[in-house]
Amino acid sequence: MLIELLATGIFGWLLGSLVNYLADVLPLFRRVHTPVCPRCQSTKGWWTVLIPGPCRVCGKSNATRAWLILLFFVISSVWLRDNYPPRLGYYLSSLLLVYLSLVAVIDIEHRVILHEVSIAGALIGLVVGFWLHGAPLTLLGGAAGFGAMYLLFALGAFYVRSRSHAGTQLEDALGFGDVNLSGVIGLLLGWPGVIAGLFLGVILGGAASLVVLVAMLARRRYRVDASIPYGPFLAASAAMLLIFRTAML
Ligand SMILES: [Zn+2]
Repeated sequence: MLIELLATGIFGWLLGSLVNYLADVLPLFRRVHTPVCPRCQSTKGWWTVLIPGPCRVCGKSNATRAWLILLFFVISSVWLRDNYPPRLGYYLSSLLLVYLSLVAVIDIEHRVILHEVSIAGALIGLVVGFWLHGAPLTLLGGAAGFGAMYLLFALGAFYVRSRSHAGTQLEDALGFGDVNLSGVIGLLLGWPGVIAGLFLGVILGGAASLVVLVAMLARRRYRVDASIPYGPFLAASAAMLLIFRTAML
């Protein structure tokens, strides 16, 4: 019993380390690479992936994020052991959690959803979706997710163009990475699950925007172009609907 709990905790630690490692190297190299410091790019030992700390060369530290991710994965892995969704199973749930966390961390830190990560997500989405919903509903879900977000993206681009005068540029409210991610989430949730997924993502993102807005107004530092990335909220929404559903019922 205790041994099993310990093994599950270690498994969670390894998954968290994988997310931390990929979130450090993928934005720099777009592929797997020896671990490096995100700032000075000096090579780091693999053990620093398992036990995070500041860079020995420049002192830059991603340790706070790294420890938060490790904590999240250890707790999730232990919790999932007794509560994993039956159809998905323990290991597929873990894989999805790794993927969604990676997307969220990179989007928060770099404001980007990498194409390489989206392509990997589409493959995972197809496999998991076919398994959960069958081919037609999976493809329909993916098309609906991609299409709905593409429409918002096109509207946003139109709005930005109509508002931008010489010299002023509004930040894109929605990046194309969000469109790709919605497609991936549509594959994972299938049809009609994708509707709930997008809806929940927009609600979570809207609530967070409101908190940011109130904080800015309170400090009298309102900026019209301040935008928050939507990727993490779409990822959180998919995780809540696919993996942590039983926790919320
Ligand atoms: Zn460094």
